[in-house]
Amino acid sequence: MNAPLTHASACGGIDLHREDGQRAVFCGLTGIVWLHRKIRDAFFLVVGSRTCAHLIQSAAGVMIFAEPRFATAIIDERDLAGLADCNDELDRVAARLIERRPDIKLLFLVGSCPSEVIKLDLSRAAQRLTAKLSSVKVLNYSGSGIETTFTEGEDACLAALVPDLPREPAEAPPSLLVVGALADVVEDQFLRMFAAMGIGDVRFLPARHAGSMPAVGRGTRYLLAQPFLTETARALDERGAKRLAAPFPLGAEGTTGWLTAAADAFGVSQATFEAATAAGRARADTALAPYREKLGGKRVFFFPDSQLEVPLSRFLARELGAELVEVGTPYLHRAHLAAEIELLPAGTRVTEGQSLDDQMDRCRAARPDLTVCGLGLANPLEAEGLATKWSIELLFTPVQGYEQAGDLAELFARPLARRALLEV
Ligand code: SF4
Repeated sequence: MNAPLTHASACGGIDLHREDGQRAVFCGLTGIVWLHRKIRDAFFLVVGSRTCAHLIQSAAGVMIFAEPRFATAIIDERDLAGLADCNDELDRVAARLIERRPDIKLLFLVGSCPSEVIKLDLSRAAQRLTAKLSSVKVLNYSGSGIETTFTEGEDACLAALVPDLPREPAEAPPSLLVVGALADVVEDQFLRMFAAMGIGDVRFLPARHAGSMPAVGRGTRYLLAQPFLTETARALDERGAKRLAAPFPLGAEGTTGWLTAAADAFGVSQATFEAATAAGRARADTALAPYREKLGGKRVFFFPDSQLEVPLSRFLARELGAELVEVGTPYLHRAHLAAEIELLPAGTRVTEGQSLDDQMDRCRAARPDLTVCGLGLANPLEAEGLATKWSIELLFTPVQGYEQAGDLAELFARPLARRALLEV
């Protein structure tokens, strides 16, 4: 049953629906694929099954490292049957790993469906291992498909970091914290832009190294760089940090709105803001121009997957003139997405949650020009003649900020060009 949750005017003029039913979304383990590249001295040890190992391996399959920063401690039949002591086994695996890899400073024990089923207490295991392995901090979070979808893995990981972040003294001057894993190149661009605005004390969560995680306190003002960080934001709020309400830095408009929130909070004058951002905005505008022709008027359907769907659809509709058939999202955080919802065209159908068959029916009936969805849905839809974009690519590719606006548009334009070629 697709029961409209609220009337349109209650949520920024969008047509909001809520669905429950079968879902087709990756589990939170997927986040390891980009997180292990971000925190360079961290290691992600999935406590899971061979299925978990295959998922991580195939999701990360394109990346070959001499020394990978993730692995799976396999729970096998003996463990599931309660015949082996999983804690002993886990301690053995962790000790061997740290002995072999002294460069590891932060070890995440990542829970999975099997570790949840056998009720393995990874938080106690993390405490025990932190005491045993003196050179390494051990934390835990869940990436299980029972508890998390896809990008919620990053949220759970960052939320696990917050209690251990250094405490900023109460009298410290305000600092800016950017929350959410961003490509290094994007972080560096934002740092330069904040510096040009006169905001000098800018920190990032996660930091690039375990030993340089940011201090957080009452003076911390934070900007979410990703829309899926509900638990992380909650943990930061509890520490006394204050969230700056903003759209997300996708496309030129979103980036300007995001930077404006920081500028307002730190008393940056309009003239300084203009001077710091004008060149970037102009470059983004130039980069986007050819895509307005390619994507203008194209009908786009989003399946719920990454939680990036609302900001992405705002970008497509407002900056490239695309038409939004339906915007699916696994969860709609009303507060974090308030600025985005305000910007969506009035009447946009937004579906929170998923009933896969119903949504597939609506997609097939609509025959959109482009469908943004998970890997599992893309092949069948392509076989039915629909052009698709894998939403996971939007997490692996640097897409935030002015300099990446053109690359972001290209990600959506490419499947249309490929399909056009196939049709020829
Ligand atoms: Fe599958 Fe669960 Fe492992 Fe994810 S955590 S790969 S959903 S078994």
